[in-house]
Amino acid sequence: MRIIQSLGEMNETARGWLAGGTVGFVPTMGYLHDGHLSLIRAAQECEITVVSIFVNPLQFPPGDPAQRYPRDVPRDLQLLSAANVDVVFLPRAEDLFPPDFATFVTLSGPIADRLEGAIYPAYIRGVATMICKLFQLVRPDIAYFGQKDAQQVAVVRQLVRDLNIDVNLRVLPTMRESDGLALSSRNSLLSSAERQAARLLYQALLAGKALVEGGERRSPLIEQAMTRVIASEPLVRLDYVAVCHADTFKGVPQVVPHTLLALAANIGQARLIDNIVYQGRGRWQL
Ligand code: AMP
Repeated sequence: MRIIQSLGEMNETARGWLAGGTVGFVPTMGYLHDGHLSLIRAAQECEITVVSIFVNPLQFPPGDPAQRYPRDVPRDLQLLSAANVDVVFLPRAEDLFPPDFATFVTLSGPIADRLEGAIYPAYIRGVATMICKLFQLVRPDIAYFGQKDAQQVAVVRQLVRDLNIDVNLRVLPTMRESDGLALSSRNSLLSSAERQAARLLYQALLAGKALVEGGERRSPLIEQAMTRVIASEPLVRLDYVAVCHADTFKGVPQVVPHTLLALAANIGQARLIDNIVYQGRGRWQL
C-alpha cells in the first residue's frame, strides 16, 4: 500500500493511472468504520483503489470545530492495508489550503440552501470545493459515496454535471448498528447515555416510514411525527427534520416516489445526520 502526502506526488501518480486500469476512489475524513469499508469493498471492482483521509476544515461550522473530529491515522492505515487498498492519499491542510487560497466552488438552489445549507451556509461550498480538488488530484474513474450523507451526494452529482467532470459516481447504502444507528466516526464522541439516546434518530425516521406505509402522504404531518419522537428525549437537540425530493432537495407537499426523510441532531459533542428514501411502490432505502 502506497501512502502519498505530497500533492505533486499525487498528481504525478494520477498521470500514470491509464496504464494501470480503472481507478476507484473513496474520499473520507478518516476514523474509519464499516460504512467506509463497505465503500472500499465496492471500489475494488476497479483495478486500483484509492482512499483519501482529510478532515476538511471548510465544512465545519464554528460550533463544531474540525479539531474536535476524531482521528486515528495509524489505525486507519492498518485497516486500509488489511483491506488491500492500493493508495492512501493523506494530504496536508497547509498544502491544500495555503494562506493565499481564494477559489471556492459554490452551488445555488435548494441543494445549497436547505437542510445542512440552512444550518451552516458555508457547508455546501466547503464540500463542493474539497471534492472538486480531490477529483483534480486523484483523477478517479469511479468515486464512491455513502447515502448517509445524502446532501453531499446531491452536491457531488450537481458539481460533476455542471463542471463536466469526467467521473462516475456510485452511492452505497447506509451501514447501521444493530439498533439502527447509522455508523459514523462521530458516534465515538457519545457517552453511553448519549449513545442510548441516539437510537431515537433512526426511530424517528422509522416513525415517518410507518406513517407513509399507513397511507399518510402529507409531508408536514410526517415531519411532525418525526419531530415528536426526537422531542421525547432531552439529550437530543434537533437541528431539523425534512421531507424533500431526494435529488433536488426541494420541499415536497406530499411524499411521492424518490422522497428523502432526513434529520440532523446534536447529542452531547456529536452532530449526527441520517436519512431514509421512499423509492415508491412500498420500497425504501433504509
Ligand atoms: P466521512 O469520513 O464521514 O466523510 O465519510 C466518508 C464516506 O463514507 C462518505 O461518502 C460517507 O457518506 C460514507 N459513510 C459514512 N458513514 C457511512 C455509513 N454508516 N454507511 C455507509 N457509508 C458511510
